[in-house]
Amino acid sequence: VTNCVFCAIAAGNEPAVIVYRDDNLVAFTALEPEAPVHLILVPRRHIPSVDALGPEHAALWMDLLQVAQRLARSSGINVEGEGYQLLTHAGRHGTRAFPHLHVHLLDGDR
Ligand SMILES: [Zn+2]
Repeated sequence: VTNCVFCAIAAGNEPAVIVYRDDNLVAFTALEPEAPVHLILVPRRHIPSVDALGPEHAALWMDLLQVAQRLARSSGINVEGEGYQLLTHAGRHGTRAFPHLHVHLLDGDR
């Protein structure tokens, strides 16, 4: 989608530190990290938000969660200890209005 920064990152047209990429998903370090580990996971295909997900996205959503699990471990997070957060939103939420489905993976409070 034109003017969507997460589409541009997923397509490699916008700079980002990519930590994971496959046919459907991209993960990169947050541009303005708020925790020692702060990654953002996005589908490569434009989906407006978590609120737009339906049964047809079941496999994609599960894939995203499994990538998040693996990235938490590979980032050194003690998942049995302090653990991590996954955050997503629909619509405008403070200043974090990116209209492309994304999930934050954070190892701290926020
Ligand atoms: Zn997009």
